[in-house]
This record gives sequence, C-alpha cells and structure tokens, in this order.
Amino acid sequence: MIDVRPRFTQADADALNARFEGVGAPEMLRTLFAEDALGTIAVVSSFGTESAVLLHLVAQADPSIPVIFVDTLKMFPETLDYRKTLIERFGIENASVVEPDAAVLAEKDENGLRWSFDPDGCCAIRKVEPLARAKAGLDAWISGRKAFQSVTRQNLPRFEVEDGRMKLNPLGDWTKDDLEAYFAEHDLPRHPLEAEGFLSVGCAPCTSKVLPGEDPRSGRWRGWDKTECGIHTPVDPDDPANQPVF
Ligand code: SF4
Repeated sequence: MIDVRPRFTQADADALNARFEGVGAPEMLRTLFAEDALGTIAVVSSFGTESAVLLHLVAQADPSIPVIFVDTLKMFPETLDYRKTLIERFGIENASVVEPDAAVLAEKDENGLRWSFDPDGCCAIRKVEPLARAKAGLDAWISGRKAFQSVTRQNLPRFEVEDGRMKLNPLGDWTKDDLEAYFAEHDLPRHPLEAEGFLSVGCAPCTSKVLPGEDPRSGRWRGWDKTECGIHTPVDPDDPANQPVF
C-alpha cells in the first residue's frame, strides 16, 4: 500500500512560490534545506542529459539529500555509468535505486517487449509504480523539469502539490542558455550519449536521436502519441496541452 501523506496544500505551494520569487535556485535550496522546511525530501533524477545541473545544485546545498534513480531495467549502459560518475564527482552521500517489481514484470512484461506495443502500460509498471513506492514516506520531492522542454511543460511553477506532497521544480524557469552556462561555469560532465545526438535520454528502446531544429524531447517515444512517462501530473488539468498520458 502506497503511503500518501497529505501534508501540504495548494496554499502552501502558493506561499512558497511567492516567498522565493526572484530568489535564485542555489539560495532557495540552501534556505529550504537549512530550515528543514519541507520535511523528508529527496531528488528524483533520470541521470539524463541535463540532470547534472539539478544534482550539482542540490549537492552543493546539502550532499546528504537523498537522490533516487528509477532504473526501469531498460536504461542505456551509458546512463548507468553517468550516474556513477556524477555521484562520485558531486559527493552525493545518499543515492538509491528503485526497480520495477519482479512479480509484476513476470506477469505483465514477461518478454520485456511491452514498450513496443503498449508504452503507457510499460511506463506504468517500470517507472510510475516504482517511483510511487520510492515516494512513499516522502513529504516532498525535487524534480528536474523545465518549462522550456516542451509544450506539455509550460506554465511550470517552482512549487506544486501532488497527492499532498510538495513537488519542487527548481529549474522550472531556467532556459536552455541558463543550463548551458551552468554546465560551463562548473565544468559539469556531459551525458556520454549527448555528443551522439541524443538530446533527451530515457529508456534505450524509446529514445532516438534528435535532428537539428527538432524539439529536444521529440526523440522520446518517436512515432507514438506520447510525450510524458506519467510520473508528472499536469499543472493545469484543464489545459488541453497538459493532459496526462493516462
Ligand atoms: S520509456 Fe519505454 S521502455 Fe521505458 S518504461 Fe516507458 S515504455 Fe517502457
């Protein structure tokens, strides 16, 4: 049974958005961690092409903040290597991995090919359920979503409430140039596949290279009417652009 802790309300999120308006992400994170303002908190990272920025920001503010990786067991080996590199380089003290439930995989994805005919169902058992398990017991979690990433992520506030948990998007208002400048300023390591044209890296079967001029996330689930894995619920559920995938 997933533990849902209805600790926070939209009013809390509104107050935090107002309090930290105009405050840079590094200072915001340092303040929140120092005040222990959000209770039990963790970062959820895909260790994708832009993940280093958020992980560096959080580790600089407090390296003991837990970092959770959802390993779908369909990841690129380069992503697993990159994870090790970043953990070591940033001094992340509390890294953990959650995986799909073996019994569920045996029942629903016995041959490992569910992604090829039912990607929503595959994401549900390989990403959404393990992440829900990982979040059980958390009061708040930190996501690396950015508004510029695609039309499904417009109007992204820094603080949202999801099932009573506070969800932080410290990079919500960062631009691609901001990220690039941060990479350069701190000499952050790049995901090994980025140089090969993978601008947004997810699971190996569902990630393809992005052509010049394409949306960076267009390489995800190419050929499918699918843009999100289902771990992020929409900010404005009435906005057709923000409808969940299931
Ligand atoms: S991204 Fe693809 S392989 Fe990964 S969980 Fe979703 S459908 Fe499955």
